[in-house]
Amino acid sequence: MNKDIFLTNSLGNKKEKFIPINEKKIGMYVCGPTVYDDPHIGNARPLVIFDILYKVLKCKFGSKSVRYVRNITDIDDKIIQSSIEKKISISDLTTKVTSNYHDDCKYLKCEKPNDEPKATENISLMINMIEDLIKKNYAYEIKNHVYFEVKKFKDYGKLSNKKLEELIAGSRVEISENKKNPEDFVLWKPSNNNEPYWESPWGKGRPGWHLECSVMSRKYLGDTFDIHAGGVDLVFPHHENEMAQSQCANGLDSFAKIWMHNGFLTIEGEKMSKSIGNIVSVRDLLKENSGETIRLCMLMTHYRQPINWTTKSMKQAKKTLDGWYSSLKEFEGKGQKTEVPKKFIKALADDLNTPRAISILHELSSEQKKRPSQQNRDNLIAAGNLLGFFNFTPQEWFDSNEKNNSSEIDVLVVEKKILERDKAREAGDFSRADKLRNELTKLGVVLEDGPNGTKWRHN
Ligand code: AMP
Ligand code: ZN
Repeated sequence: MNKDIFLTNSLGNKKEKFIPINEKKIGMYVCGPTVYDDPHIGNARPLVIFDILYKVLKCKFGSKSVRYVRNITDIDDKIIQSSIEKKISISDLTTKVTSNYHDDCKYLKCEKPNDEPKATENISLMINMIEDLIKKNYAYEIKNHVYFEVKKFKDYGKLSNKKLEELIAGSRVEISENKKNPEDFVLWKPSNNNEPYWESPWGKGRPGWHLECSVMSRKYLGDTFDIHAGGVDLVFPHHENEMAQSQCANGLDSFAKIWMHNGFLTIEGEKMSKSIGNIVSVRDLLKENSGETIRLCMLMTHYRQPINWTTKSMKQAKKTLDGWYSSLKEFEGKGQKTEVPKKFIKALADDLNTPRAISILHELSSEQKKRPSQQNRDNLIAAGNLLGFFNFTPQEWFDSNEKNNSSEIDVLVVEKKILERDKAREAGDFSRADKLRNELTKLGVVLEDGPNGTKWRHN
């Protein structure tokens, strides 16, 4: 098999041939979740997309040649805020959310990364990097804070393709009277009473978010490595700042060779947000849908494009999987080990072109339907496995569908009705709120109102 892979590099914004630094030791780092709440369907996008990248790299270069690192951010302002709102301790919150996140990964059929470092387990390395940056004159301390002095890094803005003046004018920088310059960002900050803290040369405090990933990627993958990835919202400031810190610390003009970013996911045409109340968690979707269906729905759109997540697209994904599984009914068994069809891997190696790969799966499936043979079936299974499908036998797949279909709950409809009910309650329109509760009861949904909003479960 040839080793050609082409990837779009956000640094330079063009598709380029992937040339590993060392093809026996390929390193990829993906920014993992901040564990303050259960993962939503937008968070699932980088999980699924970069799981495909991991599989493609292993398929081309051998499974022992790739090291996949995905961190867990378990200290952050959002976590502190969420633990106050939910009235539980920070450690209970992060343990619970991390465990739910691992369950989601499992159901979405995402492989475990090779390393999953937690920020709180690497604080001393973070302190070391800050000390080093101060020593090299890239960072300064003011009133127990340490800031990175952006203008000292000549390539600042190269990743997000922005000039420093634009970034400052764009008000996406945190204004603080402590800083020398508005664009400088925090490496260390003091903790207030009751907030978690670590001892440091700058007093009791905690690290800045951007620094965490610079330190954890270096620990496992070295000063420079092959691929760094995450959602497009991370390009600025998170990745821009990571690049600045890391290159100044390592003294090289390179950090990650290729930066990859997945596009944003919206729900029924709207941005997901707490204030709109339309956040759909992976857990909720999994109540009614198989992880494979969610996965396929995610992969029907190219990773760089935005996705509009709809009930309709989920139904389409489910129907497609039913078709594929039904073509596997002829010839039982797991299938013989066979090579992934060349055109299929070629599609994925072309900047993870999953829509094209899916159309090839359609061809393989109809080939098997027209001319059933062990070989055709094996080709379909080998290709599907590379995208994370066919974890069930056709029998298991259709049996579990029957169970799901018997309840026929549409998660997005439920979420919408709950949102309408919340609004009615806020407006004091209790008869409308009761009517909506009754409608949900008829759908087989039980509501549980709590201090953190309304949760629902099956009757
Ligand atoms: P967070 O927990 O907010 O740090 O996000 C974890 C990952 O999910 C990051 O790579 C984000 O870029 C990504 N992400 C968050 N929201 C969305 C969304 N709506 N669409 C796509 N990716 C997202
Ligand atoms: Zn990160």
